[in-house]
Amino acid sequence: MAGLEDAGGTNFGSALSGLAATPALAVATYRLESRIPFHNFPRPLTSIGRAPYVAVMGSRLSRHDLRTRARPTLAARARATLATVQYATGIRTGGMELSPRMSREEQRALAFWLQKLPPAFANRLPRLKLAVADDLCCIGSHVFVNGMTGQLAAENTSRSNSRLHAASFIPQRYVVLQRDLFRRRVELGRILYHELCHFLWPRLGNLLRGSYEALLQSEFERGARGELGYSAQWRKEKLKRRSATPWTEEPGRLWREYVCESFCDTASYILLGPERRARHSEYTLGRKARQRRERWMAGLGLESSVPLESLRRRLA
Ligand SMILES: [Zn+2]
Repeated sequence: MAGLEDAGGTNFGSALSGLAATPALAVATYRLESRIPFHNFPRPLTSIGRAPYVAVMGSRLSRHDLRTRARPTLAARARATLATVQYATGIRTGGMELSPRMSREEQRALAFWLQKLPPAFANRLPRLKLAVADDLCCIGSHVFVNGMTGQLAAENTSRSNSRLHAASFIPQRYVVLQRDLFRRRVELGRILYHELCHFLWPRLGNLLRGSYEALLQSEFERGARGELGYSAQWRKEKLKRRSATPWTEEPGRLWREYVCESFCDTASYILLGPERRARHSEYTLGRKARQRRERWMAGLGLESSVPLESLRRRLA
């Protein structure tokens, strides 16, 4: 996801950002664990009269049991908020669907960036739905779409939370963009491309992902500084504080997130082409490392129609 942090730009972190200074999470890592809609979770049952027990699924539970069992988890509450922007049928453009609830201006802005994508890149993506949210926040790793209430924030003051510019829901194939992002034309493109790349990453296969990971390992060994987006940058800094060889550390979740975010930032950088802002504050990766990344991306052929399977065979 591109959280505020993710996509960069201002600082909410920067990435997608703007608001706060708390690092956000990577969109791709915001995987919703199930498709069970919020309203299908058990609700607190009220007993009739003063009966102390209520029969549920053949068992007898106390009121306390019911209250605690029925309370949805934070993850479930977050998942449920995606429903606020989901839609059945959207406006088709560039191989994607745009929410019918978007304004004409928002649709035009997204269509502009989608139509600039190389067809070969777009063809490698699944059909996605794009939506806009007035508010996009996360608590820990849980993304809330139009659903972060003051009470919720107050209940979770001990967890990191931040506003996001965008979030990708991989299993649901949704990209949700925060409405204020549309005020910055190029940032919208940069963050949109980053999010789309989150859907390409799982399709690369182990060989190609491993090849990109090896590239990043060699950068660490060479002491390469900087990144091509805040979402990879803050993870890289955290990893460097932990170890000189963070890919050997367990658990390796942060390293895996870093590799994925770095891929999405780098591919977005390439895809922007002439629209890229040469002096963007988040493009801090050194010249030589940047050239190596560009060569790797050229091999991936973001603009070519070479099937991914052919690329994998070359690496095998
Ligand atoms: Zn991301």
